[in-house]
Amino acid sequence: MAFGSAHPRARLLAGLCLAVTAAGCGSLPTAPGRDTAPPPAVAARPAELPGRAEQQERHEVAVPRAVPLRGPELAELARAWGLDAPPLPAPAPPAVKPVLREDGPHVRLQGDGLPPLVRRVPTTDKVVFLTIDDGREKDRRFNRMMRELGVPFSAFVSGYLAREDYGYFRELNEQGVRVNNHTLNHKDLRRLGYQRQHEEICGQEDELVREVGPRPALFRPPYGEFTADTLRAAASCGVTAMPLWNEEAFPDRMEYRHLDQRLHPGDIILTHFRGPEEWKGSMTDLARLVIRTATEQGFALARLDDYLG
Ligand SMILES: [Zn+2]
Repeated sequence: MAFGSAHPRARLLAGLCLAVTAAGCGSLPTAPGRDTAPPPAVAARPAELPGRAEQQERHEVAVPRAVPLRGPELAELARAWGLDAPPLPAPAPPAVKPVLREDGPHVRLQGDGLPPLVRRVPTTDKVVFLTIDDGREKDRRFNRMMRELGVPFSAFVSGYLAREDYGYFRELNEQGVRVNNHTLNHKDLRRLGYQRQHEEICGQEDELVREVGPRPALFRPPYGEFTADTLRAAASCGVTAMPLWNEEAFPDRMEYRHLDQRLHPGDIILTHFRGPEEWKGSMTDLARLVIRTATEQGFALARLDDYLG
């Protein structure tokens, strides 16, 4: 059964507004919590945002967040998307991002000025982070599902795939998803010298600034493979952390690295922008599995960029 084919009810859709458009959504109550403060400045394309260059340099986000529904309305909307239970709300993001001090299996410090590798963010919040790589499948129904349910995630895109339709990633950026760096051409960086790695990483930083807006602070090397040159090249163009992962999600299963085969606070989940022709299900099938898994284990999905970078 294609759960996702059920259209969420118009009444609920009408109640869902981006915070930035709340003025035009008179019936929407002012919900408490992270998504209402501070109000976003504008809903314009990134190129039109005031002070954009300054924001890019500081890796700041100037994009609206969706105001999620809560309570019975959210539960009803979740059912319409094929979920028995709504996603758990994420706690407010930390006022200060956790300092990565400890070297260990989940955080590998790389020395002064070099981006650390992170599989699991040090936090006691019951949150996990969904990250989606590459960019081949551009499923706007998936975007809508995540927006309506208020589920955050982060993207890591390669230019050669994103270039087919950067508009898709601009739309994600505008709904609060950070579009991060996954190189221009998705090469195995171990096979490239410093200069070619610099082109792959810093070229994609610049392309994302041109095409999407904010300069990414986070970079994920293709296949999770890298060399010392990768770290130096990434640092040279402003990358401050390299997130890897502890779980990988597919439309039909989760694969865990932890021996107990469960999520742990701060875990990073990897998946990909792929469609039914590449694996067993759609992006909305994938989202259902990830949301259901997190909810059943008592975790909220939170935004990696709020904790790292
Ligand atoms: Zn990849």
